[in-house]
Amino acid sequence: MLIINGKLITWGKENKILEDGWGLLIRDGVIKKIAPQKELLTDYPEEEQLDAEGQYVMPGNICAHTHFYGAFSRGLGISGEPPANFMQILDKLWWHLDKALDAEGVRYSALVCLVDAIKHGTTTLIDHHASPNVIDGSLDIIADAVNEAGLRASLCYEVTDRDGSDKAEQGIQENLRFIRRIQKRDPNDANLRAHFGLHASLTLSDETLERSRERCPDGIGFHIHAAEGLADQEDSLERSGLRVVHRLDQFGILKPQSILAHGVHFDDSEIETLAQRGSWLTHQPRSNMNNTVGIAPIEKMLEKGVRVGLGNDGFSNTMWLEWKEAYLLHKIAHRDPQRMGGNMVIQIAVKNNSALISDVFDGLRIGEISEGAAADLIFVDYHPFTPLTSGNLPWHILFGFQESMVTATIVSGKPLMFQGELLTLDEEAIAKKAMEASRRVWKRFGDISA
Ligand SMILES: [Zn+2]
Repeated sequence: MLIINGKLITWGKENKILEDGWGLLIRDGVIKKIAPQKELLTDYPEEEQLDAEGQYVMPGNICAHTHFYGAFSRGLGISGEPPANFMQILDKLWWHLDKALDAEGVRYSALVCLVDAIKHGTTTLIDHHASPNVIDGSLDIIADAVNEAGLRASLCYEVTDRDGSDKAEQGIQENLRFIRRIQKRDPNDANLRAHFGLHASLTLSDETLERSRERCPDGIGFHIHAAEGLADQEDSLERSGLRVVHRLDQFGILKPQSILAHGVHFDDSEIETLAQRGSWLTHQPRSNMNNTVGIAPIEKMLEKGVRVGLGNDGFSNTMWLEWKEAYLLHKIAHRDPQRMGGNMVIQIAVKNNSALISDVFDGLRIGEISEGAAADLIFVDYHPFTPLTSGNLPWHILFGFQESMVTATIVSGKPLMFQGELLTLDEEAIAKKAMEASRRVWKRFGDISA
């Protein structure tokens, strides 16, 4: 396939904007050639053409930490007094919602998020799943939805002791079962990978952490929340006398492939350990603000060498909104306009997220337009009214790009949306089925909360 009439934003080592007559040849899911369009049209006259009609063509966005299972929280009312703190938010909302999910609920929660991702240019997502009453097979349900959508994702199940040791063991089994599926390298699962999911230190016993470490295969990273709220630190200190990162480190959870979400309440010693281990840390500013847990010391972590990426924690899959909140939050928090500059946002959201996905997908080059990189691309209908250069692009995105400007989404060379039309998923039919499923889930949520 040829992509023609686009203005290319390359990202990569040296970001370039190629405005004049460059085209792309896509073969076998990767960008085979970047060349003058005329040359490509002459050399490949029979090749199918995708016309970008003058729009920007750029790598798709990546979300490094999300929860498809939370989709039906939209508009969901919590009975009684509103939660007064983070633990009450977990207890009254998330730990009732996950229990209320049935298999249909798991499937349609995922599908509505995948529709959102395709429409708004997010091509890769790392999901962290929980559904305590449908554990066995839940990751297959999500994987099938991801394959139907055509997106790229890594999945895992959140192991936790909060529903007893049987459910903890079932969670471990579900991770292992899904990891085995991925290790078969079925071509139909080419865009899928697996992590070993753990909920958070505060709901994991020493025994469960130990068992998880023993059974997690080499080369597979853990995916866990860490020090999102102060309660996680207090619990860890009480259980072990150690702070969260040090407790997890004791159990071998900090592999180079592991992802720790949040790190809002890390101290310097934890940041140092994390940097030494080389595990990933993901930042989710919208979620942190919503849960009022605090502001993660992201700049310090970057300075100390922690590999920091950007997720959305189940907020909308419009990653540019997350970029914008990251850009603003640290400025207002410190009342300092020099904090979290545009280039730092790009470092986290583009470069680091791409390196993270490259780690997860066996060295796949991603997040850049270069020969040999994955053809995960979006078209953006943006009409700048001030000069746009490779140097000031971050600020055009932060102040000008809107998710509604994404008109095409391509993963592994396959168009999932073109000219604003979804090609793999039927949004209307999915919304209808999701409405039925969410009514049942809300009913159960009400019963559980009563
Ligand atoms: Zn999360």
